[in-house]
Amino acid sequence: MSEPVKNQYEMRDPREQYPKPPFPQQPQSAPGLAAEMVPRPDHGETSYQGFGRLKGRKALITGGDSGIGRAVAIAYAREGADVAINYLPSEERDAQEVVKLIEEAGQKAVAIPGDLKDEAFCTQLIERTVEALGGLDILVSNAGRQTYRESIEEITTAQFDETFKANVYALFWLTRAATPHLKPGSAIITTSSINAHQPSETLLDYATTKAAIAAYSEALAGQMAKRGVRVNSVAPGPFWTVLQPSGGQSQEKVQKFGGDVPLGRPGQPAEIAPLYVLLASQEGSYMTGGVFPVTGGEIF
Ligand code: NAD
Ligand code: MG
Repeated sequence: MSEPVKNQYEMRDPREQYPKPPFPQQPQSAPGLAAEMVPRPDHGETSYQGFGRLKGRKALITGGDSGIGRAVAIAYAREGADVAINYLPSEERDAQEVVKLIEEAGQKAVAIPGDLKDEAFCTQLIERTVEALGGLDILVSNAGRQTYRESIEEITTAQFDETFKANVYALFWLTRAATPHLKPGSAIITTSSINAHQPSETLLDYATTKAAIAAYSEALAGQMAKRGVRVNSVAPGPFWTVLQPSGGQSQEKVQKFGGDVPLGRPGQPAEIAPLYVLLASQEGSYMTGGVFPVTGGEIF
């Protein structure tokens, strides 16, 4: 990295903007903490500047404690939205940093820990958000789990089930519960992956869920258009988040992470949040049913 990134508006060489591999090995057990990553990811804490694009909106972000979800939470708050975040109880330390950042932006922050693999919790999460924020205009389904396995024979039925519950069933449960609350102008944004089109052989269950999320989002967009609600999906390439060193990749792959995309480095969460802002804001009024890659040049 040449100099620390002060803002995202100054012209600079994207290849040199952030760290490149090799990275140190850094095993953590899932879901892990962003606070313990080396180097620390950039979620926009010091660089994201808001312009009032989401003034008065009420947003729920799953997985809002760390990584892409944290960057989206910071951006949404600085754009004027009140923000509820969901995460797992073991991630409280990361979550509290995000609560503080939302409040420093002058917005209301609501922290609702709990496991999305549970249908009843998903329903409650929507109801609690609506109660705490006084409504819901933006649902960002971003939480996800990823566990690499070299061979199909190492994938237990429990793992397969948990990956589908957290990545796909939760999306169904959350969007179904949210639907009656979403007024025309509201937006749903889901998080797919480059794995939907270029599935990694060591992420058999995960890659399959990410293809399902893309199809689900496109189909839901058709239905929701009739209600004036837009639905889009973001498909990240390699992003520097704790998902990877906490069992999402082997430590050997973590060391080289992002090195083989055309820009030669992984993306930082702060570099994908602006797309989630656009898709949520009225500037994105004609954008629905899309799956948008952000991959550092890797063909989607
Ligand atoms: P991350 O680990 O920082 O965020 C994932 C979050 O999911 C966790 O913070 C956790 O709160 C949440 N989560 C996982 N299981 C849960 C459960 N059962 N209940 C509640 N919450 C749960 O990593 P990230 O990379 O920011 O991941 C965000 C999304 O981006 C995920 O859907 C991931 O699949 C997707 N994605 C990431 C990459 C990448 O390279 N980092 C690439 C493509 C897609
Ligand atoms: Mg986390």
